[in-house]
Amino acid sequence: MKSRYLRYTMLVAITGLVIYLALGYGSRSFEAYCPFGGVESLWGLFSYGEFSCALGPLNLSLMIALLVLVILSKKSFCGWACPIGFLGELFGRVGGLAWERRPRPGRRLNGALKLLRYAVLALALVFTYKTGELILRGYDPFYVIFSGFGHGTLGTISAAVLVVIGLGALIVPMFFCRYLCPLGAVFDPFSRLGIVKIARNKEACTECAECEKACPHDIRVHEMPLVRHRDCTNCLECLDSCPEQGVLKLTATL
Ligand code: SF4
Ligand code: SF4
Repeated sequence: MKSRYLRYTMLVAITGLVIYLALGYGSRSFEAYCPFGGVESLWGLFSYGEFSCALGPLNLSLMIALLVLVILSKKSFCGWACPIGFLGELFGRVGGLAWERRPRPGRRLNGALKLLRYAVLALALVFTYKTGELILRGYDPFYVIFSGFGHGTLGTISAAVLVVIGLGALIVPMFFCRYLCPLGAVFDPFSRLGIVKIARNKEACTECAECEKACPHDIRVHEMPLVRHRDCTNCLECLDSCPEQGVLKLTATL
């Protein structure tokens, strides 16, 4: 639980900062700090030598810094800093209160649905390239929530998208992160290489699977000597849930 308190403190602070910027108190728009904007701007930058729409060099710098972070520590950004990941986790916890044992999507269905995030990434890049506008803003929960349904959102369509994402997260924690987040899709190949990861001592493990139950991404930690899984956020929930002392630990290895 201790690491969860630390993590939630950090997530609350970052979410508060985004709200502060979204209310117009900062010198820049909150959009200037969106790392996915760094990906969206690449195409326009290479093609026309300029950033698309509201994007700028800060988006690109953040994106590069995050890719370095992912190589160092997998998708830590998603578990320790992203407000949308935070909301996805909280919704999953609230939804979890309704189930004695939460229904989990089967491996094949879960794997198939994860392909959607690559489709979202492709759509975001193609539309931004073709129009020079951030056409998918109206479907992006980060933008819709923190802009308060601002410029470029789509009224009831944006609201419906938010409702679907929220209801999805009540059943499957991190619903948006798992299936729809294009930033997660960009991180995937780098996350597999992530140096800092969870290691399991096979000899001391009782294979009780408490770690898997605690994992917001349903990663089968109890079957792995090292958690190389692309979706691991190093959130440490598995480590905290393990009833055996010292079986799981955070380690730095290739
Ligand atoms: S919770 Fe700990 S003891 Fe149980 S399966 Fe996971 S690593 Fe092994
Ligand atoms: S495997 Fe452990 S550290 Fe990784 S996401 Fe799951 S609970 Fe978090």
